[in-house]
Amino acid sequence: MLQIPCPYCGYRDETEFAFGGEGHRIRPPFDCSDAKWADYLFNRENPIGTHHERWIHSYGCGRWFNIARDTVTHEIHAAYLIDEPKPNFKGEDDR
Ligand SMILES: [Zn+2]
Repeated sequence: MLQIPCPYCGYRDETEFAFGGEGHRIRPPFDCSDAKWADYLFNRENPIGTHHERWIHSYGCGRWFNIARDTVTHEIHAAYLIDEPKPNFKGEDDR
């Protein structure tokens, strides 16, 4: 079981959290092309390595936050607030 570091509460069991999808997605303007809108709706990153994800501590503080998780090892490199940019840390994109 994953131990997820909530930025507000500290480490808790994975069962207290709900996955919220890929982090840092920005909705395109309404007048964008159909292809761009379809890409926004249906396509997601699926990297081998670091993935930035949104999570909510639904059985805890109820707050959203982002984590940077390795999709191979499930190691969590960083947990950060929802309005913070992607953190730079050693090891990202090294695969
Ligand atoms: Zn929390």
